[in-house]
Amino acid sequence: MLMTIREKIQTLKDRYDQRRKDREDRRIILEPFVDRLNEIRQAPRVTKNDFFCTSCHRDVTGLSFKQVSAVRPMLPTAWFISKCPLGHRVIRRITDKNTDPYYDFSLMVSRSRYDMRDDFLDPSDPRFQILYPKQYAELMKHHERGGKK
Ligand SMILES: [Zn+2]
Repeated sequence: MLMTIREKIQTLKDRYDQRRKDREDRRIILEPFVDRLNEIRQAPRVTKNDFFCTSCHRDVTGLSFKQVSAVRPMLPTAWFISKCPLGHRVIRRITDKNTDPYYDFSLMVSRSRYDMRDDFLDPSDPRFQILYPKQYAELMKHHERGGKK
C-alpha cells in the first residue's frame, strides 16, 4: 500500500513522539535510582560526623567511613560508620537522610531544636503574645480588619 507524503511524515512524527515518551517514562522510573546514586557518589569516603551512641546514650563526634550496600540493586543504600569511644558501632545515613534515627535520638539535635523553638512559634501559641507583643497586636488588628470585610 502506498503512503502519501503527508502520511509518511505523520508516521515519522508519531514514531518520534513515541520514542520521546518512552525516554521520558524511563527517566521517571530511573530518577529515584539516579538520585540515590548521586547522593552516594557525592558523599566523601571518609569524613568527620556527629553520631549518637544508643548504647552510651550520648552524642559523639568522630571520623567515619562510607559504606554502600547494593543488596537491592535498584535501591542502593549508604551510610557513614564509626565507633564511639567505647567501641560501639554508630551510623549516620547517607541515603534516606530524612528518616535517619539520629535526628530522633541526638540530644544535641533536640537541644538546638529547643533553642530554635521560639523561631517556629505559631501565633496561636500563648507564648507568642508574651515574646512578640508588638507583632501580636499587629496580627490581631489585621485579623479584625479581615473579619469585618
Ligand atoms: Zn557507645
